Amino acid sequence: METRVVKMGRRKRIALVAHDHRKADLLDWVRFNRGLLEEHELWATGTTGLLLREELGLEVNVLQSGPLGGDQQLGARIAEGQIDFLIFFWDPLESLPHDPDVKALLRIAVVWNIPVACNRASADFIISSPLFREEYERLVPDYSDYQKRPITLR
Ligand code: PGA
Repeated sequence: METRVVKMGRRKRIALVAHDHRKADLLDWVRFNRGLLEEHELWATGTTGLLLREELGLEVNVLQSGPLGGDQQLGARIAEGQIDFLIFFWDPLESLPHDPDVKALLRIAVVWNIPVACNRASADFIISSPLFREEYERLVPDYSDYQKRPITLR
């Protein structure tokens, strides 16, 4: 498949999401990295975002709570090219009512080739990469053949 280039600016648009049992871990990670993260545009699902605001005083764009549609809102923003990174501490030990939304969010991040970290070690590697502070040319598959595929109606 052909690819096309989507430019990420120096100032990244970062989505932060954590399931309830992973929220303390995400908060701790954000606290440790807040100096760096503050230079970027932050987005979060409802409860995660409110915690980041209240506990750390961070400026965050807060969407709906995950189970109420927040994961899908983030997925839509990824598809529209409005999110550059996904830091998603999902809970591997619990099934949740919005598991299909979680899977959909992870899937759409792969479709649009955005970096995703699902645990702290991956998040550490992403944030300490030299690319994190620079402009970056993200290669996105060119889906135009798929969009123009012939459809048989009968
Ligand atoms: P929350 O959603 O930040 O509103 O808790 C997280 C999620 O489950 O996606």
